[in-house]
Amino acid sequence: MERERTFHTPTDYQQAMLHAWAQYATLKGGENASYIPYLAQVPAHLCAVAIVTVDGEVFSTGDADYRFALESISKVCTLALALEDVGANDVQEKIGADPTGLPFNSVIALELHQGKPLSPLVNAGAMSAVSLINARDSEHRWARILNMQQRLAGAAVTLSDEVNRSEQTTNFHNRAIAWLLYSAGTLYCDAMEACEVYTRQCSTLVNTVELATLGATLAAAGVNPRTKEQVLSAANTPFILAEMTMEGMYGSSGDWAYTVGLPAKSGVGGGIVAVVPGVMGIAAFSPPLDAAGNSVRGQKLVASIAHQLGHNLYRCG
Ligand code: GLU
Repeated sequence: MERERTFHTPTDYQQAMLHAWAQYATLKGGENASYIPYLAQVPAHLCAVAIVTVDGEVFSTGDADYRFALESISKVCTLALALEDVGANDVQEKIGADPTGLPFNSVIALELHQGKPLSPLVNAGAMSAVSLINARDSEHRWARILNMQQRLAGAAVTLSDEVNRSEQTTNFHNRAIAWLLYSAGTLYCDAMEACEVYTRQCSTLVNTVELATLGATLAAAGVNPRTKEQVLSAANTPFILAEMTMEGMYGSSGDWAYTVGLPAKSGVGGGIVAVVPGVMGIAAFSPPLDAAGNSVRGQKLVASIAHQLGHNLYRCG
């Protein structure tokens, strides 16, 4: 049975976005992440939502120019690069493609699986993905990862020295994870190099339109709809979307699949991006997080837009 493709006009997108905004932009609840000092002091009232379609149309409202820390969403970009460099089989074999069922920075998850991270979208798997990238040295590794972020999202994505300093001086737990991976043979470069570069990749700044562009690039089978560049091979995008479905929304990835039905990834900086394959990327930003680590308002905004426009991958009619 061929899936029916609903056609939406620019007015439909705009109306869906503004309706979601009116309902949820001032929703109360949640708290900024505080274990990274920088994130604790980002104004909690900031809020934005954006849609970028695979044709490059852009819709946005709120603080859509405000640049926030990419954090965990960076794992999607590094996964893309790892897939391009070593291929889907190696990524699945060396990192995995399953949810851990445990928090994103769990050490227990590693112990339970002989050091295999299971998912490139948890901290252990992301550091393992960093280590799989083809690179001569640490600076080359970093340059390639930043370049992938820029090509997926927009050239203005840059490292924030302030965020990076805040993270590099407090990332003791991630350093411990890196050494555990190294001892298990599941890290493929120097342990502290992987952790340091991973921490940098979390410390770049994006705005909500750029984040939606990242989603739209995945939705368009690897072609950035704004720059028209084929950023990654079409064959690799399904692996990324599958991983996002499995582990993209932390411990509530299953609930998200059940209620929204779209691959998505969020970060502790308050960003969230969802992908409607073949149609669009939807992104939102709002710092206060729920207990699972997902933006309270961001989830509502994205889910509402998807729902109003009738997008749920598991809906058959
Ligand atoms: N830099 C953060 C960490 O490693 C990212 C976490 C996240 O957004 O999930 O803890």
